[in-house]
Amino acid sequence: MSFVDDAAERAPRVSFRVPPSHVYVHVPFCARRCSYCDFAIAVRRRVPADEFVEAIDRELSIRALGNAGATVDTIYLGGGTPSRLGPAGIARALDVVRRRFPPASDAEITIEANPDDVTPAAVASWRDAGVNRVSLGVQSFDDRALEWMHRTHDAARVSEAASALADGGMENWSLDLIFALPEALGRDWSRDVELAAALGPPHISLYGLTVESHTPIARWQDRGMTVEGTEDAYEREYLHADTALSAAGYMHYEVSNFGRPGRGSRHNRGYWNGASYVGLGPAAHGYDGRTRRWNEREYAAWLTRVSEGDDPIAGSEELTDENRVAEQVYLGLRTSDGLAISHSETDVVRAWADAGWASIGAGVVRLTPTGWLRLDALASSLTAFRSR
Ligand code: SF4
Repeated sequence: MSFVDDAAERAPRVSFRVPPSHVYVHVPFCARRCSYCDFAIAVRRRVPADEFVEAIDRELSIRALGNAGATVDTIYLGGGTPSRLGPAGIARALDVVRRRFPPASDAEITIEANPDDVTPAAVASWRDAGVNRVSLGVQSFDDRALEWMHRTHDAARVSEAASALADGGMENWSLDLIFALPEALGRDWSRDVELAAALGPPHISLYGLTVESHTPIARWQDRGMTVEGTEDAYEREYLHADTALSAAGYMHYEVSNFGRPGRGSRHNRGYWNGASYVGLGPAAHGYDGRTRRWNEREYAAWLTRVSEGDDPIAGSEELTDENRVAEQVYLGLRTSDGLAISHSETDVVRAWADAGWASIGAGVVRLTPTGWLRLDALASSLTAFRSR
């Protein structure tokens, strides 16, 4: 793919209402599609790292001229599988982002990685490139479950990856697990939670399996197979993780996230706090404090737009006051910091506290783990009250 020369002159300059404090880069490449995954990915045996990094550089020059020089608090390479860019590709990708958005001296710089890609040499080169946090896609320690999920690693590989991170001095890292798998797989969730905590990651994220359309498991479901756990199992496993990880010293600081003190994800906190952020790469979303925008989803379409000097935007929405109220309520309720409420709202949320779904104190309501299981319903009832 070649690039036209006058892109920067032809493209619109996008100025942020609030200078962005976070940068997200979507790296879409994966070795294969996991059975549950509906993310915007590009399955490639050989990853076109140079082409991708050049296109990110191009997108920055097309879109971010008005923001050159802003200092950001976090940079996050997500995906997809950013670790498949290879050490040199990651270093170059971070370089092009840093040229436009210099990170603060203590910035959090995260990459997502599959255990297959975490070797002592890779960890050393990531650290040299400025990466100081790794999010590891583990999902399970049960080889049968991993195979069912179409993961490319086995459980033994996870331990090797964790050792490589620890030995390589990557102090800040996170581990993802998926719960609510179909019972027939015989996956032992308690054992997985125990093994995850035993590896000592400073942060653990949990995702409940859901069946999204156009995924392999959706096709299996269409053929009559049971591909997800029951609602009871979903609730039981979620609450078990809360109990076990809290006992192991983790703070359950957001619906899906647990961290050792001081190890919460600063990048995700930015999203939850409504901060302004830039999204680069296919399907990436950005937000400037009022307007949300998103890029072309497919890699080829995004690449073509960028190579022709066009802003690869696929759509945008200006948040209305009503949207903003709904977001403020939803985002506030999802973290352990909770949501500030007025005196009149205390009456609405008292019923939640009576049911064990929330606690109320000093003008703030905080959901409990059983409340987080009902987050959508509780957020919409409070939003409806707030919007009257
Ligand atoms: S590695 Fe992640 S992004 Fe890639 S297919 Fe699997 S779940 Fe999706």
